[in-house]
Amino acid sequence: MDSSLGIAGRVFRRGDSGYEAARAATMWNQRLPPRFPEVIVQANDANDVLSAVRWAGRAGIKVGVRSGGHSWSGNHVRDGGLLLDVSRLDEVRIDRRARKATTGPGRAGHQLAAMLAREKLFFPAGHCRGVAVGGYLLQGGYGWHSRVLGPACMSVEAVDVVTADGEIVHASAHENAELYWAARGAGPGFFGVVVRFHLRVYDRPKVIGFAAQTFAADAFEDVFRWLHAIGPEVPGGIELQMLLSRHTPGVRGPGMTVIAPVFASSYGEAWRWLAFMNQSALRRRARIALPFVPSGLTPLYYGVGQHYPDGYRYAVDNMWTSASIDDLLPGLRRIVETLPPPPSHMLWMNWAPPPERPDMAYSMEDKIYLALYSVWKHARDDAQFVHWPVARMREMEYWATGCQLADENLGQRPARFVTDNHLARLDRVRAMYDPAERFHSWMGRP
Ligand SMILES: Cc1cc2nc3c(=O)[nH]c(=O)nc-3n(C[C@H](O)[C@H](O)[C@H](O)COP(=O)(O)OP(=O)(O)OC[C@H]3O[C@@H](n4cnc5c(N)ncnc54)[C@H](O)[C@@H]3O)c2cc1C
Repeated sequence: MDSSLGIAGRVFRRGDSGYEAARAATMWNQRLPPRFPEVIVQANDANDVLSAVRWAGRAGIKVGVRSGGHSWSGNHVRDGGLLLDVSRLDEVRIDRRARKATTGPGRAGHQLAAMLAREKLFFPAGHCRGVAVGGYLLQGGYGWHSRVLGPACMSVEAVDVVTADGEIVHASAHENAELYWAARGAGPGFFGVVVRFHLRVYDRPKVIGFAAQTFAADAFEDVFRWLHAIGPEVPGGIELQMLLSRHTPGVRGPGMTVIAPVFASSYGEAWRWLAFMNQSALRRRARIALPFVPSGLTPLYYGVGQHYPDGYRYAVDNMWTSASIDDLLPGLRRIVETLPPPPSHMLWMNWAPPPERPDMAYSMEDKIYLALYSVWKHARDDAQFVHWPVARMREMEYWATGCQLADENLGQRPARFVTDNHLARLDRVRAMYDPAERFHSWMGRP
């Protein structure tokens, strides 16, 4: 126990042996930012969180929060102040009958999904193993079956939050409603520490599988035209995506993998839904075509994980758009021409959101999502690869509606991540709950 802070978990001050290891351990991306908090607290439980936030208040210093450390930009690693690691708060409770669950912020989404699967239940957890629910749910959360269930924050019914004044409050549609509104979309600019999420969970879809086709670069323009044309008609139970990479099965050089995870109520339904792919005119140009593989989630996680290996350095950027394919093609061509070696890649995702969502801070989305991931191994290559995502997104920014907080790089390229009205409301709610600005705001925002 660190007696001066009243904390049972471990505390590292800058200069302590163990400080640098504790700082590095907060980041999944191996590109550790050159930013140095004064103190790192590894909270054991909600009481530690309360003590740490109260201590920061007395000391008059800022607080950064980390759950799973998957923020690409290392949003939680800031200069000075307190870095509060809440990854150990990972308790999950499931009430099968009520279709409800609670989880600590440090629980990885794939683990939550597996625990729910044992009860034949389901939650739109993120597409990659290891991403913790803390940061994922606060920013929106694009997970399995999210086209039907909505961004995962839509399934957050309440949150327990340690606020800047060192109190723990319950926030829902009925209590602290503005804080609850903010917790569903403020992402890395949230002004409190969520110590528990209360979730609505769902019956597990009866059929989970995927279809896939790969194409060589000579089909590049035709594949993009086809994706843009069919996107709006693709059933919600299909998450149509395309990955552009220099490592594509069945292809030499740059290629495209069109992948369609399916969440259906029967095999017949899955096959019917996939007709757009299996009967398309482009199918005969596919190098590899898997018409339908009933797989469950595990192979889907494995497939996605190939593109996001552990132990690498990452730089990312992204945009939402509804621009026409003709407007986007020059920028997309530049992306293909300049694509770094694998596992770097581009993700194209068909989102096509419904016209209405519940009232929550989350408010930036569009028909198509484009994200760039530069991935490399050695620090000596930073200068070569680090700028690619931001440079390409800058060239296309005219066609962007805004960006997704999941893959934010706001410190390098500020962009709209909620609507202007919602940003103004977030500022008002922050002023109510965190008037002294104890918690860090989004990077790239003064
Ligand atoms: C390999 C990989 C795959 C990904 N796949 C997906 C995906 O499929 N879908 C998707 O939507 N996103 C995805 N993401 C993005 C991911 O959801 C976000 O980076 C998210 O913030 C990660 O959550 P975390 O808790 O692990 O991150 P952290 O880095 O711990 O948190 C990010 C930020 O959220 C805030 N925060 C975190 N926990 C709390 C808390 N308890 N209280 C208050 N504030 C908090 C802090 O500001 C923090 O800086 C992926 C990221 C990676 C690296």
